[in-house]
Amino acid sequence: MKQTNISIFVPHSGCPHRCTFCDQRSISGTVKAPTADDVRAVLDSQTDNLRRKDMCAEIAFFGGSFTGINRAYMISLLEAAHEYTVRFPKIYCGIRCSTRPDFINEEILDILKKYCMTAVELGAQSMNAQVLEMNERGHSPEDVENAARLIKNHGFSLGLQMMTGLYGDKPEYCTETAERFIGLKADTVRIYPTVILEGTKLGELYKSGEYSSFSFEETVILCAKLLRMFDEADIPVIRLGLHASTEVESKMLGGVYHPALREICESRIFYEDMLAEMQKLGGNSFTVVTDPANISKVTGQKKENRIKLEKLGYKFNIKNEKGTRLKVYAL
Ligand code: SF4
Repeated sequence: MKQTNISIFVPHSGCPHRCTFCDQRSISGTVKAPTADDVRAVLDSQTDNLRRKDMCAEIAFFGGSFTGINRAYMISLLEAAHEYTVRFPKIYCGIRCSTRPDFINEEILDILKKYCMTAVELGAQSMNAQVLEMNERGHSPEDVENAARLIKNHGFSLGLQMMTGLYGDKPEYCTETAERFIGLKADTVRIYPTVILEGTKLGELYKSGEYSSFSFEETVILCAKLLRMFDEADIPVIRLGLHASTEVESKMLGGVYHPALREICESRIFYEDMLAEMQKLGGNSFTVVTDPANISKVTGQKKENRIKLEKLGYKFNIKNEKGTRLKVYAL
């Protein structure tokens, strides 16, 4: 049975923090906070659809700080979601939320457990203390570690979210963050390259020339490396890059946003692997064997991999072989 998420956005309009990248302050008032009845209405509208498609769904409360919202309100949303996991256990297979590391403690986790939440994701963003401070996150790397351990100890699936290219960030800080996520035994990871939005502190810093994020090329090289690290640690990266949204596109001042970012990063991994094999084998003509599903990643977007390899003097043809990731033979 295929699994999906039914996402319910819970804005944190009373958030006391001022994260440099966040535009919640500018959107508060324009995004309505869902009531428990809104949650029920969303789930009612999806139940038959999911059943028809033979799919199950996790009910996902996202928005950044679910456990920091008003307690009675949070419980009312949980009650509504829990009701549907009890009524339709085969269709609604779990509840997940995302929150801040400093909004996690034993008491909160006990409440989440009571309503059968399955996964808790932490917006860690970076494990570099200076980057967290420069971006006014209001929590430390140690807060992330403590919260992550509590979440694991309570038996939840642990999700960790990181950003790349924040104010003061460096690629090596991002790989260090990934190493620490691996050390914390995250069950899932999301990677969000920074998108600089109008109405944010980052937007002001960007306009004044004090800050610019990593370039697109730097981000692709970095995220390809991060994908490799998590893959080797057997940790699924369940999201890379912001979801396509006209709102993001209309408010974006800079940073990295591309609807096919993950495909581009995966294609970069193929490029690096092919180049390494070709250099090892020697010569200038090769056959690349791969599963048909990988062909677009082997050639790259707009044939980018082929063009770059040809510039280095390497030509190749492609042979399909189901189930093969990548083999390279010299001709
Ligand atoms: S990202 Fe930061 S400022 Fe925005 S809602 Fe979350 S904690 Fe508050």
